[in-house]
Amino acid sequence: MEIFKEFRIEAAHRLPHVPAGHKCARLHGHSFRVTVHVTGPVSAPTGWVCDFAELTAAFAPLHEALDHHYLNEVAGLENPTSEQIAMWLWERLRPRLPGLARITVHETCTSGCEYRGPGIQARRSRPDPAQRLAQRQPARAAAVEARPASVRLRAPRRRVKGS
Ligand SMILES: [Zn+2]
Repeated sequence: MEIFKEFRIEAAHRLPHVPAGHKCARLHGHSFRVTVHVTGPVSAPTGWVCDFAELTAAFAPLHEALDHHYLNEVAGLENPTSEQIAMWLWERLRPRLPGLARITVHETCTSGCEYRGPGIQARRSRPDPAQRLAQRQPARAAAVEARPASVRLRAPRRRVKGS
């Protein structure tokens, strides 16, 4: 199961490495729309993958670091394309959200990017152990998938109901 939560970031940027005369070289702003996707089993008795509030809490310090900021001044975002923002967010969210599966960054209503983590290239050429198990021994793979959430997802220190 995959759940997601959407966040908004108002921020300014300019792209320093675009061709001469490109409009994105000029200072401008966006209402970035970011979605954070987390996968995991639906656990009992909660009936959820995890509390949406966990996603909100994990994202909060990053929102603080980016919202209403000039992104080029944020460490690691000297070239703040949507792709770089997605990777920057992934590196910081992954330790707090082990089930992190996907981050999308919409820069405008019609343009954006989707990032599934740095391992995706390696997995394309060589299936990860879970995928290999699913292909060879579907029943065992299903048993692994059915493990309680506490085994597969790091248990939160504090659960806040709602979001
Ligand atoms: Zn832009």
